[in-house]
Amino acid sequence: MDKILNYINGNFVEANSKKWINNYDPSTGEIYSLIPDSEKIDVELAQSAAQAAFDSWSSKPIHYRSKIINKIADLIKENSNKLALAESIDNGKPLSLAKKIDIPRASANMSFFATAIIHEESQSYKANKEVINYTLKKPIGVVGCISPWNLPLYLFTWKIAPALATGNTVVAKPSEITPMTAYLFSLICKEAGLPDGVLNIVHGYGPKVGREITRHPDIRAISFTGGTSTGKEIASVAAPMFKKLSLELGGKNPNIIFEDCDLDKAVSSSVLSSFSNQGQICLCGSRIFVQSKIYKEFKDRFLKKVKELNVSDPLLETTKIGALVSKDHLDKVLSYIQLAKNEGGEIIAGGKRVNLEGRCKDGYFLQPTVIEGLPYNCRTNQEEIFGPVVTIMPFDSEEEVIKYANSTIYGLCSMVWTSDISRANRISSNLQTGIVWINCWLERDLRTPFGGVKQSGVGREGGIYALNFFTEPTNVCIKY
Ligand code: NDP
Repeated sequence: MDKILNYINGNFVEANSKKWINNYDPSTGEIYSLIPDSEKIDVELAQSAAQAAFDSWSSKPIHYRSKIINKIADLIKENSNKLALAESIDNGKPLSLAKKIDIPRASANMSFFATAIIHEESQSYKANKEVINYTLKKPIGVVGCISPWNLPLYLFTWKIAPALATGNTVVAKPSEITPMTAYLFSLICKEAGLPDGVLNIVHGYGPKVGREITRHPDIRAISFTGGTSTGKEIASVAAPMFKKLSLELGGKNPNIIFEDCDLDKAVSSSVLSSFSNQGQICLCGSRIFVQSKIYKEFKDRFLKKVKELNVSDPLLETTKIGALVSKDHLDKVLSYIQLAKNEGGEIIAGGKRVNLEGRCKDGYFLQPTVIEGLPYNCRTNQEEIFGPVVTIMPFDSEEEVIKYANSTIYGLCSMVWTSDISRANRISSNLQTGIVWINCWLERDLRTPFGGVKQSGVGREGGIYALNFFTEPTNVCIKY
């Protein structure tokens, strides 16, 4: 059985406890590797290694750091087939998706921040003939990066890249549900010549390892992506310690279709924004609002395409919908389908577990599911499901749909389909979300601010926002 190992001070080691956690392949339901069941002592060793490496790493010229991080990006590219296969097996996502999105983006995260530091500016303010202020951006020290299971390597590197580029050293924890590519990434970092201790990866359970990272007094900032309830717990520990906190949390994103939209594009994109990665992307649109005049036409065309999506073995090139990440998660999503029925919803597509034949007969597969007939404020339309389940509802006016869209505790992103540019501008300023996509979905430019409002998060990632998060600005005032 393959064993994943912690990466501490440049060494690949078991957990101090010598205990292991089973790692499942969600497409077969079988255990296929073992994960170190780490605890406090492992986090302490990782923090000590990161602390010892900090002075040297943070004082290196930016071109030195940039070169190593770029080398990591290149090695991710060189190993992309291997990494994509590992991601698909670990997570259940279609191999084609991992090849197209997850792994290229992980490499892009590294190269983006490797070059961003070379082009970064800092401000200066001349007060008068004798006084000038300038902003010195200093790395924070040892920082913690904690990431979820839905886009494992993609989100892990999205945090680690800016943290390392700005001169911090890192203690990181991937989700224990999908640790494999984080392990392969640690092998790549070693090969790229990343100095020992600069990045340390501790595997294990969130409430053990994640919690110890959060509460360690000498881990000075926490960058977290995951569920809102975990985010609250992390904030309750880290905030009283005055740690810097970046929280990217859950969502319940509205997808709004106006009658003047390009319907072909709105239908095709809505299929993707509803069901890509089995609906397990924080940016998926899970509530579809369609203006009444085109409701029936949109619904019919959308359902036709949804019914064509094949749920199958993630390793087949033709598969559009793979397995959900775990049995627990499948049960959670199924419980929401039951809730929708109890609330009076009608399942107009899917709704059932899929039992495949052969290799995947015990995998955690679910039909892409569409629910109609629910009010905007019922639990199904208010709580995050995070699976291949969407609701569809009609609306009449712009005012009405803004009220529906903004009605949840979340505010990560929204999608709007319209050909009226004035409406697009108006609605963008009225929607309570950190990201608004007009006539598109998942167009990402890594320079833009990424994050949510309300209970979808605190702070922004991406571009200069991430560089700012991982540095402390010091104002230097000189009188001459
Ligand atoms: P969780 O909140 O369960 O876990 C996220 C990470 O936190 C995991 O590594 C987990 O470890 C760890 N963790 C769990 N408990 C603690 C704790 N007490 N202290 C510190 N760390 C802890 O989220 P999921 O992995 O289930 O991911 C799905 C969620 O992530 C969804 O809500 C989704 O919306 C959100 N998400 C948000 C994104 C955004 O950008 N806003 C992007 C992607 C996902 P372990 O897995 O080992 O328990």
